[in-house]
Amino acid sequence: MIRLADFEESNVTPDPDLERRTLAYGREIFARVNRQGPPAFTPAWADQLLMDWTMSAEPLKIQLFRFIDALPRLHDSAAIAGHLRECLGEAGGAVPWWIRYSVRILPSNGFGGRLLARAAKWNAERLARRFIAGSNVEEAVRSVKRLREKSQAFTVDLLGEATITEAEADAVQKQYLDLVAGLTREVNGLPEVPQIDRDHFGPIPRVNVSVKLSALYSQFDPIDPEGTSRVVRRRLRPILNAARRTGAFVNFDMEQYAFKATTLQIFREILDEPAYRDWPHVGIAIQAYLTDTEQDLRDLLDWAKARGTPVWVRLVKGAYWDYETVIAAQNDWPVPVWTEKWQSDACFERSARLLLENHQWLRPAFGTHNVRSMSAALAMADAFGVPPAAYEFQMLYGMGDEFKDVLVGLDRRVRIYTPYGQLLPGMAYLVRRLLENTSNESFLRATQSGDIPEEALLMNPYERSGVRSRESGVGSQESGVNGAPPRFRNEPPSDFARDDVRRKMQTAVDRVKGEFGKTYPLIINGEPVTTPETVASLNPSRKTEVVGHVSKATIGHAEQAVQAAKEAFPGWRDTDASERADSMRRVARRFRERRFELAAWIVHETGKPWRESDADVAEAIDFCEYYADEMQRLANPQRRDIPGEENVYFYEPRGVAVIIAPWNFPLAILTGMATAALVTGNTIIMKPAEPSAVIGAKLMEVFQEAGLPKGVANYVPGVGRQIGPTLVGHPDVAMIAFTGSLGVGLWINETASKTPPNQDHVKRVIAEMGGKNAVIVDSDADLDEAVKGVADSAFGYQGQKCSAGSRAIVLEPVYDAFLTRLIETTKSLTVGPAEEPGSAIGPVINEDAQGKIEEMIEVGKREARLAFAGELGSFKAEGFFVAPHIFAEVAPTAAIAQEEIFGPVLSVIKARDLNHALEIANGTKYALTGAFFSRSPRNIETVKRRFRVGNLYINRKSTGALVDRQPFGGFKLSGIGSKAGGPDYLLQFVIPRVITENTMRRGFAPGAEVVSSGKGGE
Ligand SMILES: Cc1cc2nc3c(=O)[nH]c(=O)nc-3n(C[C@H](O)[C@H](O)[C@H](O)COP(=O)(O)OP(=O)(O)OC[C@H]3O[C@@H](n4cnc5c(N)ncnc54)[C@H](O)[C@@H]3O)c2cc1C
Repeated sequence: MIRLADFEESNVTPDPDLERRTLAYGREIFARVNRQGPPAFTPAWADQLLMDWTMSAEPLKIQLFRFIDALPRLHDSAAIAGHLRECLGEAGGAVPWWIRYSVRILPSNGFGGRLLARAAKWNAERLARRFIAGSNVEEAVRSVKRLREKSQAFTVDLLGEATITEAEADAVQKQYLDLVAGLTREVNGLPEVPQIDRDHFGPIPRVNVSVKLSALYSQFDPIDPEGTSRVVRRRLRPILNAARRTGAFVNFDMEQYAFKATTLQIFREILDEPAYRDWPHVGIAIQAYLTDTEQDLRDLLDWAKARGTPVWVRLVKGAYWDYETVIAAQNDWPVPVWTEKWQSDACFERSARLLLENHQWLRPAFGTHNVRSMSAALAMADAFGVPPAAYEFQMLYGMGDEFKDVLVGLDRRVRIYTPYGQLLPGMAYLVRRLLENTSNESFLRATQSGDIPEEALLMNPYERSGVRSRESGVGSQESGVNGAPPRFRNEPPSDFARDDVRRKMQTAVDRVKGEFGKTYPLIINGEPVTTPETVASLNPSRKTEVVGHVSKATIGHAEQAVQAAKEAFPGWRDTDASERADSMRRVARRFRERRFELAAWIVHETGKPWRESDADVAEAIDFCEYYADEMQRLANPQRRDIPGEENVYFYEPRGVAVIIAPWNFPLAILTGMATAALVTGNTIIMKPAEPSAVIGAKLMEVFQEAGLPKGVANYVPGVGRQIGPTLVGHPDVAMIAFTGSLGVGLWINETASKTPPNQDHVKRVIAEMGGKNAVIVDSDADLDEAVKGVADSAFGYQGQKCSAGSRAIVLEPVYDAFLTRLIETTKSLTVGPAEEPGSAIGPVINEDAQGKIEEMIEVGKREARLAFAGELGSFKAEGFFVAPHIFAEVAPTAAIAQEEIFGPVLSVIKARDLNHALEIANGTKYALTGAFFSRSPRNIETVKRRFRVGNLYINRKSTGALVDRQPFGGFKLSGIGSKAGGPDYLLQFVIPRVITENTMRRGFAPGAEVVSSGKGGE
């Protein structure tokens, strides 16, 4: 890996003097602490025992952490005991037999159940109290006063993970204001402790609070840094003003990588405002586990100099390492963190040096419990002559307490990161701490184990790197094993947290506008055909804008196209399969080259938000490449030879395929159906949906750029009602691939089933026809995730996806809490034109759709209680906007709970228990997608068995299927045929044939010898 090489070249030889000093500090620190672990039978000893036990097996650790995470949501003893039993059951053989046995014999109800539940809860709360300093301001104040008595400073953090509503963001702001007021009132009057209340210049703030910016805005999203910054700064200013007024310090915490650039931007923007430009009592956390870190620090340094006032930098390694690696793997993005622990440690030391060398501008706060890391900082500070009071150490409440005391003893300032808050939001923090404490890579864990020698713990990171890194050599995933072709990989989504990506998209969005209003001809047999009549395709966000005029095919054109496709068929059929596959790969390549441009057309023509338009292009790329790979697999004839007889089983295309596509995935679905037909050797006539016909023209352009022979692909947009019957009923058409509404799908199926006398085959129809998808929310679900998952499923792209979740079926115990949060979340979604990156809710596709959705809303008002109707403001007049609507207490049989609406309308249905929920969920004529939010392993198993839909998602939204990973499609009235993007899809476009040849001639059969020698056929 290049990064490793960088390290090796530039940093292998540590400065011997510095290294000596570092080791001296390390040894001194160790000499002052007790490495024997906590005394037996103390609470700390019990915690240690528990952690050792959980560490003993990964499955057990995961299940116990899952149990702790679910605990606050469990309302009674039976639920707690039941969950514990399920979790231990899932951990399987990792749990000692006697625990499994005892848990099994204790009943869920009655005294035994209560005892078990109480013991579990008590232990989890005790564990939480080890890391969380209190549940309210008063308790937090008491904790920090105790810290001060030990000469330890503090920074207080308000626990609470996801802010998903604006009301919650307001509440967080208020809590911070109360916190600053409460702390300064209580602490500023206390006697001074010079070691922590002064630096080398004089007094410093005693009150110090840490803020997570994402808590201040429910729509915090790096895709729209300007909009995000505006709202966050609005909520931050009163906090900063209060802090400044009362002499408090504010630190900005750093969260996941996707938020880093926006967090840094907000930090700089607000501190450049005149009111704060000369304020030095602010800081930001920077994570050394990121490969960007040193560059970020250099940028911060330049900025601080330009601002003219220093800021503090809390240097940490970073708390989201596992999360970052998983997200990168899921999206196939570059991993933003160092992948080996020594690299993070080394980066910490390099960054510490940079801070110490520039401590006048970036004032160093070292956030670590690692003795090597802190010793390196101490040694460098001495070497560079940085006064001890000019920097500080920071550690987490409840972690590495012995080292805090030692550093205080060394006369350094130590600040304790002190979180407080309710247990429920605190669980995510607790689980992070438990993960950190039980990680194999954790320094604290290594010291506590007692069997790693000090010298090894203090070793220079570069020395530690040594053999292990080189041996583990991360190979490129590009090449397959032993030269086998690489496995299909999904096209990564664009990472809109990146500045350059956002810029490219914005440029494309602007540039494409300059091409509005052009006329697009039909393409028949490779020739453009303009028609006297055209259809104007409008921008749904601004209905006065004509995206393009599309030629309108007549019946005659439809017939010409069928003729052209028919004539081109034999040549294309007989083209080598790998050549056809290569054509599709060329299409994918062109898509990549035109990625942002195509995404911009989708934004403008169909009102899809940026991220989803980009995903549409990515999915189109996936279809091309996946079907190309699949075709190569199918192209290998299957042989079943015996002596004297050769049998070959192979596929050939059906003939002329008509592709009728919808507008909601304007590029992906059209491309998917078209390329499946083409790669298998069929010739096609594409009829895109009227509202997305310009994107259809762009696909046709790409097909031509990829060099498809004339007549192989024909583009015939027009009004479905006019040319549909000709295309579907034509005797020379072999198959129809359709995605769209149930009504049209059934009509196609019926029309195609008629076989006129001049037709020599029975037509094949594959159709994907919609759904009325349900999301079930269990009583123990993580409501943060369930609310967000339901809102995303229901309102993503305004609910205009066949996979959209339009029914939320919520179990009674959490129904009210869920509904209240869902309404608040939905209220917080930003409505606006799709071209604005910050718009969460854009327009619906056209006036007709708008009218139909509004009609169903009226039906809903008669059938159920309208719990929420969003506001549209000025947009209503500009485009085809429909505000999100939530209906509550909806009867499972109500029309709004049974009919597909294809708009931002959600029915919330109350269920007595899981059986009832499943009965409701399965109780429609559709079976497309479904989702289930739960933390109960047993309920998850039940739902997997009994929620009968084509695509079922557990603990995630019901939309966003990826080619190959989640082949997509349903049954019942949701579809005819197999799943798009799956291993059976292409089979629908081909006819299997078998050829048997008798190779026996006068008693001699070639290959007979080979067969008889047991080596198989040819
Ligand atoms: C006061 C304070 C404030 C904090 N604020 C923040 C904050 O705002 N944002 C934040 O993200 N974190 C924050 N943290 C958490 C902090 O990131 C972790 O506590 C810290 O990473 C633990 O590092 P260590 O030096 O104590 O322990 P060590 O055991 O030396 O390091 C553990 C760390 O190494 C890294 N690591 C683990 N495995 C690997 C690997 N395979 N490859 C590369 N690196 C690896 C991870 O970052 C892990 O946390 C804060 C910590 C403190 C003390």
